[in-house]
Amino acid sequence: MNVTAQSVWDNCLSFIEDNITPQAYKTWFEPIKAVKLTEGGALSIQVPSKFFYEWLEEHYVKLLKVSLTRELGENAKLVYVIKMENTYGNKKPFTEKIPSANRSAVNSQEVDVPIKSKNPELKNPFVIPGIRNVKIESQLNPSYNFENFLEGDSNRLARSAGMAVANKPGGTSFNPLLIFGGVGLGKTHLAHAIGVNIKDNYPEKTVLYISAEKFTQQYIESVKKNNRNDFIHFYQIIDVLIVDDIQLLSGKAGTQDVFFHIFNHLHQNGKQVILTSDKAPVDMQDIEQRLLSRFKWGLSAELHQPDFETRVSIIKNKLYRDGVEMPEQIVEFLANNIKTNIRELEGAIISLIAHSSFNKKDITIDLAKAIVDNYVKNTKREVSIDYIQKVVSDYFQMDVETLQSKTRKRHIVQARQLAMFFAKKLTKASLASIGTQIGKRDHATVLHACKTVDNLSSTDKQFRKYVEDLGKKLTL
Ligand code: ADP
Ligand code: MG
Repeated sequence: MNVTAQSVWDNCLSFIEDNITPQAYKTWFEPIKAVKLTEGGALSIQVPSKFFYEWLEEHYVKLLKVSLTRELGENAKLVYVIKMENTYGNKKPFTEKIPSANRSAVNSQEVDVPIKSKNPELKNPFVIPGIRNVKIESQLNPSYNFENFLEGDSNRLARSAGMAVANKPGGTSFNPLLIFGGVGLGKTHLAHAIGVNIKDNYPEKTVLYISAEKFTQQYIESVKKNNRNDFIHFYQIIDVLIVDDIQLLSGKAGTQDVFFHIFNHLHQNGKQVILTSDKAPVDMQDIEQRLLSRFKWGLSAELHQPDFETRVSIIKNKLYRDGVEMPEQIVEFLANNIKTNIRELEGAIISLIAHSSFNKKDITIDLAKAIVDNYVKNTKREVSIDYIQKVVSDYFQMDVETLQSKTRKRHIVQARQLAMFFAKKLTKASLASIGTQIGKRDHATVLHACKTVDNLSSTDKQFRKYVEDLGKKLTL
């Protein structure tokens, strides 16, 4: 009989299937792919993520060992290949080295994971100047697409602008398209979806997705290696450039400068630029004015927190894709309790499925409550701007109206500035929205307040004490 990775794995699977719940089998084993079998008896399996690998190691390593030993004998060895999250190679999955730990291999030896490339992204970031038709891997993740980016009031503008751009890259007035919004609200997903869609519509176009962080690293590297021009040239031949989390360029003058040149070149040549940021342009600090003004040339579209209906459909869609069923009541419970971050919502669903399949328990409302508690406890609860104003006014023994009033009396102005400072520090609200809520001021006033508080707390001992006292009261 011809023994292949697939046949060995199939036999392991039928053994495993007989020993665990159908739910657990579906969740943890169906997504695995057998990739390679060596003569020495090492079977490589591909798992979707690092989380997945850790989960298998923690909960199913014995079962894996028994099943594999039955197939391959005492020398059997298991090698995990992790398909990297958020990156995508057109031909081969990227791999990652797993740190060796005692428990991490079936045969208690090091998990030996082949490293295909030290730096899986942009294997060859620099092309020889003058050569145009090099193939650049897009670094897009096809599982982030428009079909599974569910529409709701919270994202309608951004989503449809994204689709317009995908239909006519460089040919709409949405250039650049800046998608901004809080953590976990879908910026990265949407940015990939646009890129993926462009690749479908225009296979000949060069699309590149890059995080601002990676871009910065590459730039620094290019300066060290003295090939800054090649770096710029590489980016200038791209048709659709997607830069994720551009707020990370803040304070990095060199990178901003080089990005400015690349941006201008692309824009002048009718190429599409797509940017994401966790802040609106007015709230980005330490980004050069000339760059900020360019971000505003096109369209800035905000992703808001999804409303209840959208949260429910996101959950249902995720369950559907994972082939998991969950009672309506629990879906609504989750949607009601995790509101501000879709990533957390997904995380809660994954743990719920994991807990239930591992403990062989049904998904119950109690289990859901326990998991949500865990999430809420672990994520710092955000204080509200109202609460901050209340605490600050109490501390200075004035009422909130006084704190918000137009008076220029020094101690009141200081109290107001402190409230603004803490609102900036402890909430995710924008400068503009803090200003509106604290006595209808504009964003420049809030920015000024933050700077004043910073200055005074380093020069004025009494003032520093205010800041410390209030900081303690507010974060208790
Ligand atoms: P951000 O980059 O804004 O921090 P991500 O794009 O990483 O957020 O999104 C977090 C998670 O939420 C991802 O798994 C993404 O697929 C999911 N998500 C966000 N928005 C939606 C949506 N509208 N429909 C379905 N899933 C979404
Ligand atoms: Mg992101």
